[in-house]
Amino acid sequence: MNPKWNGQFSCFDLVAKTDTHSRSVVQVRDLEIGGNDFVVMAGPCAVETEDQLMQTAEAVAEAGARILRGGAYKPRSSPYAFQGLGVEGLKILSRARDATGLAIVTEVMSEEDVELIAEYADIMQVGTRSMENYALLEALGGCGRPVLLKRGMTATLEELLRSAQVIAMAGNPDVILCERGIRTFETATRNTLDIAAVPVLKTVSHLPVIVDPSHAAGVRSLVPALSRAAAVVGADGLIVEVHPCPEKAMSDGNQSLTFSEFRKMMTDLQPYLDLQQSARQFRPQLLALGGAD
Ligand code: PEP
Ligand code: MN
Repeated sequence: MNPKWNGQFSCFDLVAKTDTHSRSVVQVRDLEIGGNDFVVMAGPCAVETEDQLMQTAEAVAEAGARILRGGAYKPRSSPYAFQGLGVEGLKILSRARDATGLAIVTEVMSEEDVELIAEYADIMQVGTRSMENYALLEALGGCGRPVLLKRGMTATLEELLRSAQVIAMAGNPDVILCERGIRTFETATRNTLDIAAVPVLKTVSHLPVIVDPSHAAGVRSLVPALSRAAAVVGADGLIVEVHPCPEKAMSDGNQSLTFSEFRKMMTDLQPYLDLQQSARQFRPQLLALGGAD
């Protein structure tokens, strides 16, 4: 490992990779995140109606997603934007889980909501705006659910791992890291997907790492390419926005895929996942030959 990284990250002892702890697998119902499977989470930015969520859940399940995403409590940049359905949204999510068997990931914004959301969610999502909300991170230590921790839009990887350490220190080792794009001087995309973050995090931490191509891109046409890139650099999965009618979405319609776009993306991703799988199998031989690090 790069000696600089060792000094930089080893202080986060509960999340840093060591000789004896090189990989964590986070169990979510019957799924393993960080294991051998590439796990795709998909669904709308926000839960809007029962019909919208059910249709989306069925479509993404059929296309191969294993986890349904959907915000019931939405952190919006504008105070005038749709703020989410709250507890009614959580109930719709749990009915969609019953109907499809998909696990549920949904965002929690305040420590006051942790207990309620944990009753419905299989994974608690911490959004980019909350990555350094320490009261929330500490409350998630005792929630009994895995946490999907998104990288703050201006956070370094060191700061992301520091927040993961806070959750682990509070008693919850089941943290999934998420690269979702960071703010740079580039304005053609909503954020800049820091693709190098994936192999860096996989090198310095034992935690699973997934990529959110939707919030990174900000436009749907880029989402499949960024997803393929994530698969090739070794991400453990994706979280992708999908909507039955993106132009009518109450949030993030520009970056949401239609059902057929999502199906095509999943099909086109498969050869890249196969490639990654065979690279994993050959890695020990390459290492023995001194051909990979
Ligand atoms: C979301 O997942 O809809 C979301 C708000 O993501 P982020 O926190 O990455 O902006
Ligand atoms: Mn969104």
